[in-house]
Amino acid sequence: KNLQKYFPVKGGILNRTQAQVKAVDDVSFAINPGETLSIVGESGCGKSTTGRAILRLDDPTDGEILFEGQNLMELSKSDLRQKRKEMQIIFQDPYASLNPRQKVKQILDEAMAIQGVVPKAKRPERIRELMEVVGLRPEQAERYPFQFSGGQRQRIGIARALSVDPKLIVCDEAVSALDVSTQAQVLNLLKKLQKDLDLTYLFISHDLGVVRHISDRVIVMYLGKIVEIADKKDLFDSPRHPYTRALLSAIPIPDPSKTRERIVLQGDVPSPMNPPSGCRFHTRCPFATDICKTEEPELRSTTFMNETHKAACHHIEKIAETEKTSIV
Ligand code: SF4
Ligand code: MG
Repeated sequence: KNLQKYFPVKGGILNRTQAQVKAVDDVSFAINPGETLSIVGESGCGKSTTGRAILRLDDPTDGEILFEGQNLMELSKSDLRQKRKEMQIIFQDPYASLNPRQKVKQILDEAMAIQGVVPKAKRPERIRELMEVVGLRPEQAERYPFQFSGGQRQRIGIARALSVDPKLIVCDEAVSALDVSTQAQVLNLLKKLQKDLDLTYLFISHDLGVVRHISDRVIVMYLGKIVEIADKKDLFDSPRHPYTRALLSAIPIPDPSKTRERIVLQGDVPSPMNPPSGCRFHTRCPFATDICKTEEPELRSTTFMNETHKAACHHIEKIAETEKTSIV
């Protein structure tokens, strides 16, 4: 709720002035148990920062993080450590977070030992089980991380996350470093595990193809703000925010009977240190008017949208009208 993460940075001549990067700026959303909610956006939009802030890996500047009704911001360090069992994260490059001097069995053993979830005597059996659950052979736990392929290493990262029996897993670009066929295998594994183990995913990705494959709902972020949130089908079939429309227009559509006009955005993403006034997208938006420069649009739904579908744009109605006429 109202999550905010600002990073202080030095700026100006001789780095004397103190400035702030508004990485996440007043973001609110809920994740339902058992679903996959994705956050998509270009690099620097605040999606990873949001994921890390939710787990308090980076403490938010402001806001609340409610996990099963409990505000994690109010937890002491040791209570938070206890809670971490229930909330795990998987990174883009598991290699970077797997100790190269440890065998896989030690890596998994250590994760369980830190969280105190499985008694020592039971851990070897649990390690064999975890290896199988993620599609590896139990005897491969005797190997070191470098002896595995990228996809296998990601499976080890998943096994480590699962070792403490979490409820929520934040997947931060979890398949982005993998080639397309390995990506599909890992995504299918994640889906299967979700069903078998009642997992909830917050899935962070810049890749709309991947997001389309795995999500139930999707959030689109731009410069630290949510610009659109919707069920997957609504988002991909009828995107409402001009930024979402531009992102989607850049990917091929599976249904060849539909065509979509390519929307090419002007300019670069502005600096999050000094985001544009009003609607942060106004400097690049083909539909921008005067009000967009001064007033920040609310995230809202409107008559022709599902209630669960919201976009932060002053001109949702007008843009939908132009869309109708351009299809005719
Ligand atoms: Fe574009 Fe204005 Fe809508 Fe922002 S509020 S997306 S600038 S039309
Ligand atoms: Mg990132």
